[in-house]
Amino acid sequence: MNHDIPSTAEPIRKLIQELNKLPGIGPKSAQRLAYYLLRAPDEQSSLLADAISSVKRQVTLCSTCFNVTDSDPCLICASEERDRSNICIVEQPQDILALEHTRIYQGLYHVLHGAISPTEGIGSDDIRIKELLERLTSSPPDEVILATNTNLEGEQTAMYLHRLISPLGIKVTRLARGLPFGTELEYADDVTLTRALEERQEF
Ligand SMILES: [Zn+2]
Repeated sequence: MNHDIPSTAEPIRKLIQELNKLPGIGPKSAQRLAYYLLRAPDEQSSLLADAISSVKRQVTLCSTCFNVTDSDPCLICASEERDRSNICIVEQPQDILALEHTRIYQGLYHVLHGAISPTEGIGSDDIRIKELLERLTSSPPDEVILATNTNLEGEQTAMYLHRLISPLGIKVTRLARGLPFGTELEYADDVTLTRALEERQEF
């Protein structure tokens, strides 16, 4: 028996199928979104379609910090207001969003685009560590804050970076242990993140 619903028009079926591939969107939600878009005003669905197609076309990586950006250097690296003596190291661009949301951190960032994970075959050469070292050597900050996730991969990465960076004479700190083990920065709440930043400890 065919479990596909033959009465569903092909374009709708296709939209449901694509939405279902998004993280956190199960088949039911995909269906609901598809029918919502179908009923929505033309303008709304074309704005969404445009936003989706331009995100890949117009967004690139900052050549200094590797944050996602539509201008290079990114707004944070280019800003005169930021404190250049601090560089906060995160795994993913969305971690910057979480930290910026606390409004407490005024320094710069560096995005690794991953974490070291021997089990998944991700080594130090597969993430932006070489670029980080070049940056730290050419314009050394006073402090590097390791804000990788508090899971196994994040801790391994933090330890590895600490070994690499401390011989450069730069102070290395780690977000305070207020963050429970297994926390992904992206999902941490503002209060917890603010405390973790304020109470960061020397590695
Ligand atoms: Zn940047």
